[in-house]
Amino acid sequence: MQYITLHDDVRIPQLGYGVWQIPDTQAYDAVTTALETGYRHLDTASAYENESGVGRAVRESGLPREDVFITTKLWNGDHGYDTALRAFDQSLDRLGTDYVDLYLIHWPVPEQDLYIETWRALEKIAADGRARAIGVSNFTAENLDRLLREGTTRPAINQIELHPYFPQPSMRDHHRRHGIATEAWSPLGQGGDLLSEPLLKRLGDKYGKSPAQVVLRWHLHLGNVVIPKSATPSRIRENFEVFDFELEPAEVEQITALGSDGGRIGPNPAVFNYVG
Ligand code: NAD
Repeated sequence: MQYITLHDDVRIPQLGYGVWQIPDTQAYDAVTTALETGYRHLDTASAYENESGVGRAVRESGLPREDVFITTKLWNGDHGYDTALRAFDQSLDRLGTDYVDLYLIHWPVPEQDLYIETWRALEKIAADGRARAIGVSNFTAENLDRLLREGTTRPAINQIELHPYFPQPSMRDHHRRHGIATEAWSPLGQGGDLLSEPLLKRLGDKYGKSPAQVVLRWHLHLGNVVIPKSATPSRIRENFEVFDFELEPAEVEQITALGSDGGRIGPNPAVFNYVG
């Protein structure tokens, strides 16, 4: 496993396992498979409604709690200082743990304009030792700049949509300039057309790897923290087998060149105000 050291000296495994869209009833089995495979970093959220299954799998794995890096996220309808503190307590309850490794504001929800106040709650949670690191997700450069101006603590990470069809070079630059780590969500483009790209197939053939493994290697090369999701045991294992080959810099550039401004799959955070 490779690690990225966040600005607060917390070490995060660069490859993690994402559990969006895995129902709570299946999360236990899926996370158990991931932990048996060797993953030591799990990415959930209160909105995924599977924190209970994730937490139970960690507790029953026999692994010491400190060996597993757990991220969860604060949902959009829970912004605000007191509300965020309460929502965090509920996440800890569901996870069955007394701290998380990383707590993120899931979306900035600009229309609500509460993310600065919410960030103060995360700062309090970190100061109390209940989150080892705190960060954000889906923050635009503008949101980040405001947080840096008005907050006391710099976010350790910004988790954003990032894959070869949407490689986000300017956000990665912005993060680098401010010492904020970049974490890629939907790193495989949600398993859509991307994985049929001839370039990825060709590189996969060259290295004896699948297109998904080539994409994950591209993320590792760029320095992204990456959290692919699969509920299929063979793919959970396949996505972990990416530490025994390396792409050449020119190949990394060719993959990045697949991207375009229109390559976004998920919502645009600048206008995403859903709180339901
Ligand atoms: P992903 O890019 O990880 O793609 C997952 C899909 O790709 C799977 O459902 C499967 O269909 C396919 N797949 C996975 N492994 C494969 C393989 N080896 N070969 C072929 N196909 C394969 O998509 P995702 O789930 O959207 O993103 C990953 C994680 O990112 C989520 O589980 C979640 O933890 C996080 N996420 C966060 C946000 C956010 O707003 N912060 C949004 C979306 C996702």
